[in-house]
Formats: sequence, structure tokens, C-alpha cells
Amino acid sequence: MYDVVIAGSGPAGLSAAIYAQRAGLKALTLEKNPMSGGQVLNTYEVDNYPGLPGINGFDLAEKFRAHADKLGCEFKEAQILSVREIAGREGNAQLQAASSDCGGPCPKGFVLETDQGEIETKTILAATGATHAKLKIPGEEELAGMGVSYCATCDGAFFRGKVTAVIGGGDVAVEDAIFLARGCEKVYLIHRRDELRAAAVLQKEVMALPNVEIIWDTVAERIEGQEQVESLQVKNVKTGEKSSLPVQGVFVGVGIIPSSEVFGKLARCDEKGYLAAGEDCATSCPGLYAAGDIRGKKLRQVVTAVADGANAITSILEYLAQGDIR
Ligand code: NAP
Repeated sequence: MYDVVIAGSGPAGLSAAIYAQRAGLKALTLEKNPMSGGQVLNTYEVDNYPGLPGINGFDLAEKFRAHADKLGCEFKEAQILSVREIAGREGNAQLQAASSDCGGPCPKGFVLETDQGEIETKTILAATGATHAKLKIPGEEELAGMGVSYCATCDGAFFRGKVTAVIGGGDVAVEDAIFLARGCEKVYLIHRRDELRAAAVLQKEVMALPNVEIIWDTVAERIEGQEQVESLQVKNVKTGEKSSLPVQGVFVGVGIIPSSEVFGKLARCDEKGYLAAGEDCATSCPGLYAAGDIRGKKLRQVVTAVADGANAITSILEYLAQGDIR
């Protein structure tokens, strides 16, 4: 039985793996994809991680993984299908009061059912991150992979010399517009309000680009094309005026959805589906912790994800040390 199974190998999971290994825990990190790094793999440039200004996201992920490998962390490629608690002992009252609102006894541990078989563990750290939100407009699903994309750094090269649209006003959309502007003839950045949500430094950069046109107060209504994207129908939400933009690519950057389906059955989630947990990363289910983008919190960046990984392992060490679980 493992002391901790870390679900996910993005920055939060990799940081946790490093802390767990250094603490002498029997730890296993499960990753869905063959490549560690999570969302940061698709980030062209990370410019706010201290000490590594302007590092490419892929390179940063490689550095995190190389660090974990150097320490001898154990990894396994597997998809978690479900989790069940191993029926409880009477829990440590203090621990339950601190971390649980479920009222029941602390579980003795968990069994993770994966596509590679069952794995038993005393604790779980959910670090499965988040996936891209969809626009849910006509043409989006039909033309996915045929001009509709959720990752500019992955697919941007196909649109060299072409006209593209990016939808959204957060860090991802603005970063995508900046990235695409390097190769595209023109990029429309379409935002539903008259003010961007992205960091000020990104706003300044995108507004200075001659081939990026920001279309304010506008929503995308329909993506059209036969075999490939040919145009985007948009509507100004203030005037009601509709128009058609001739674009060959549509990049969707309208936020993220937490990957909490499996763990949300065991612990309390907030109204957006993020696992509810404070800075100690303890969820309402004793023994289950949450780190990174899956945790309900204010700031979702690499630096806060790696901090979560460290905090979660510290809490897990306390949990294992108290009570009779170790
Ligand atoms: P986000 O910050 O939630 O921004 C989503 C954007 O999409 C918002 O501007 C929102 O508009 C818009 N939007 C949402 N639903 C929409 C819809 N149906 N139609 C049109 N527009 C819609 O999400 P994100 O940019 O994907 O970033 C996710 C998280 O990762 C954020 O916490 C972000 O800070 C973080 N991140 C950080 C970095 C970095 O530090 N370098 C890089 C990338 C991402 P409103 O503004 O009107 O709500």
C-alpha cells in the first residue's frame, strides 16, 4: 500500500512528487499522458516563474520532471476510473474536525481503480488540473481539428500566413493571440466585454501588435465551413449588430473546467466544480487532498500550483503521523 498516490503530473503533481520523495513517503504519481507537465506543456512562454524568465512551457515541464526523476520518484501511466474508500477506522477527532465535514469515520485508505488495475493507498493527492471550456456554439464540435483549436502553441504553425480569431479575454486568449501574431497575417481577438481580464503586461503587449485587432463587446455565434473553418459569425452585444469574419482558424480560450469528476464524488466541491480545500489542501474527505488547478482558489498559475504540491504533502505527512494510519 502506498502512503500517497498523486493523481496528475502537472506542476502541482510534480512538486508533490518531489516533496513526497524527499520526505521518505512511499509515493506513486499517476499520469494520464506519456508526457508530464499538464497545461504548461502548451504554454509558449512562462514569464512569471521566479528565476526562469521567459522559459518555454515545455522546457519548464521537462525541468520539473527531470528533478523528480533525479530523486527517484515513481511514475505510472494510468487513467483513474473510480475511487473507493477502504472502510473506516474511528478517525482522529482532531483531524476530522480540521479537515472533514462528512462526519463519518476516517477511511483507512483508498482503492483506485485504473485502466492498469487497482492501486491501494493511504492517502490521495488529486492534482488532475483542468481542461478547456467549450463555447458550445454551432460549428465548434463539427470543425474541431479542422480549424477549431484549443491550443495555439500546438496548432498555430498550421495557420502561418492565414487569418485567425481567438475568443476570450483572459491570460490564455491573450497569450494565444500574441503567439499567433508571430506567424499569422492577422489575428482577431474577440472579447465579450470592453475590458480584458488578462495580466496588464499581456494586455500591453497584445495592444501594441499591428496585426492583432481586438473586437470588443462581441460574442461568437457560429463557426462556418465545409471541410475547414471558413468564417466566424459574431454579434456585438451592445448594438446587436451581426457580422461575418473571414478566418481560417478559431482558437478558443474561454476558461477551464476542473477535472474533478472522480474525486468530486468523495469530497465537497464549490459551485464551479473545483474541490473545496484551503491552503492546507485538505478536502472534506479525510485522506483526500487537492492541489493545483483542481483546487478552489483565487490564482491559478504555475507558481501557485507548485506551492500547493508542497503544502499538500506537508498536510499528508501530518495526517499520516497522527492517528493509527501509518
Ligand atoms: P479565464 O481567466 O477564466 O478567462 C476566460 C476568458 O474567457 C474571460 O475573459 C471570459 O470573459 C471569457 N469567456 C468565458 N466564457 C466565455 C464565453 N462563453 N464566450 C466568450 N468568452 C467567454 O481563463 P484562462 O484565460 O483560460 O486562464 C485559466 C487560468 O489559468 C486563469 O486563472 C489564468 O490566470 C491562468 N493562467 C495563467 C497564466 C500565467 O500566469 N502566465 C497563463 C495562462 C493561464 P470575462 O472576462 O467576461 O469573464
